[in-house]
Amino acid sequence: RQAAFRTDLSVLLDQVGTGQESLSFMKRRIRRLAQQWATAANHLDAKLEQRWRDQKKILVHVGFLTEESGDVFSPKVLKGGPLGEMVQWADILTSLHVLGHNLKISMSLKDLQGFLGVPPGRGSCPLTGPLPFDLIYTDYHGLQQMKQHMGLSLKKHKCHIRVIDTFGTEPAYNHEEYATLHGYRTNWGYWNLDSRQYMTMFPHTPDNSFMGFVSEELNDTEKRSIQQNKVNNMAVVYGKEPSMWKGKEGFLQILHRYMEVHGTVYYETQRPPEVPAFVKNHGLLPQHELQQLLRKAKLFIGFGFPYEGPAPLEAIANGCIFLQPKFNPPHSSLNHEFFRGKPTSRQVSAQHPYAEQYIGKPHVITVDFNNTEEFEAAIREIMSAKVEPYLPYEYTCEGMLERVHAYIQNQTCSAPNEAHPGVGKQLGPMFVPLSNSTALGWSPNVPPPAAWPPLRALRLLVSQEGQSCVEACQRAGLVCERAHFHYINSKEALHALEVQCEVVDSEMNHILPAFSVMRRECGLQREALLFSCAGHSPKYRRLCPCRDFRQGQVALCRDCL
Ligand code: UDP
Repeated sequence: RQAAFRTDLSVLLDQVGTGQESLSFMKRRIRRLAQQWATAANHLDAKLEQRWRDQKKILVHVGFLTEESGDVFSPKVLKGGPLGEMVQWADILTSLHVLGHNLKISMSLKDLQGFLGVPPGRGSCPLTGPLPFDLIYTDYHGLQQMKQHMGLSLKKHKCHIRVIDTFGTEPAYNHEEYATLHGYRTNWGYWNLDSRQYMTMFPHTPDNSFMGFVSEELNDTEKRSIQQNKVNNMAVVYGKEPSMWKGKEGFLQILHRYMEVHGTVYYETQRPPEVPAFVKNHGLLPQHELQQLLRKAKLFIGFGFPYEGPAPLEAIANGCIFLQPKFNPPHSSLNHEFFRGKPTSRQVSAQHPYAEQYIGKPHVITVDFNNTEEFEAAIREIMSAKVEPYLPYEYTCEGMLERVHAYIQNQTCSAPNEAHPGVGKQLGPMFVPLSNSTALGWSPNVPPPAAWPPLRALRLLVSQEGQSCVEACQRAGLVCERAHFHYINSKEALHALEVQCEVVDSEMNHILPAFSVMRRECGLQREALLFSCAGHSPKYRRLCPCRDFRQGQVALCRDCL
């Protein structure tokens, strides 16, 4: 069946249900943004020009909100607890509904079993028949619940699963045997999924898919009025939990010398001791009131935590400048408690790396807060700067709908054992080298196999020693495309690059395909699950599949729609 865009959200609101505070938060958000979603749906509908879109049967099982997983989030919704996840799930549900899919929503184990048609009961009871859904969106908690209650059949239906995973999962952590043997085992990883089945909050891990969320958009009149009403010496501090303010008195004192400082820290009866008396604390605000506060403020300042949340994008969209600390050395699962045990080695170079890398000046200023001169200079610069509200296209409703539409219609998962590229097994068409360049095009005589993103977008690059493909592609103004590793994992690719190989081995190692110049050793990947944009190794140069991307929509290549 063909999917038709929906602009009425009442059915969705009924489906979300009632009871927990988290559900009320999500419903308030869905209602507040309803008009924006409807406008975006109409725009995208026109843009896609009647293109056929399959209507999919989709189950959304929000594992972390189920009672069975402890639901630690709901009781904290009104008390300064994390809201980013709820923001994202509300927006995912809305996207799927607006795109016109056939949606079922589960927030408990009972719902899950009912929808999957497995008899309730204890222990693992395999689902024997066909899966009644084309796609299941869940999270790590939900995945665990499905394993426990669907048993072995989960393996069979793996390709239909998408895991919403805020900070991302790198391939080395996802491959059970490899993770166990090489010290990448964590509490979360080792599900042996295609790593693009993990969907993140920001486009920080090209091994995964970027799901994202949306922020409020402003029309031109609103933008103009915001700019006229900005209060140049008004700052709002990022952090709704008192602990986020701990040990920051020094910075706050300096800031207070220049600006009036506002906060939205949750409190019960008294001002939390972490929040100095000179701060005007509004208490935790409902989302729309926070937006109003941000419209007046000139500066939104982070003190290092929370990492990579939605609030800085909302602040920038409302015309604030976001000032944040640079992390040197970067924070990661190797050196920071928060990231410890997370299935990624990603180096987080600032509180909000997306803000720095994808938005940057004049909207975002990233400095070393311990350098007082730099810190004060930034504050002075912000007070006199003129900036317009800004929201990257990928965080608008239309941008999110466009991306989710493209994934649903095009993304396929290669189940383990289905694809074992390697020596002797040629998966891609022949390469033809372009003169003076490491970029390769496709031989016009060989029809490219059906691939998404289309192979036209592929550019083969070689990384420096020690450099990952994430970095190598980024340096060239491109992005690493994990789906294309299959096509460059071959002797032909090495040959086309004129790499001198004395031996070509095929191994299981997440840095492959790669070669060592010194030892004249070349290696191809034997395990498709281990293709990794993130991998790097000091003595190896990697073969990297890079691709172009749309301005403001990095998840999609130019020809991806
Ligand atoms: N938020 C809110 N009231 C406040 C402060 C924040 O509703 O007083 C919302 C904000 O609009 C954002 C969400 O909380 O969408 C998540 O914010 P944050 O970036 O702090 O991420 P988190 O750590 O909660 O995931």
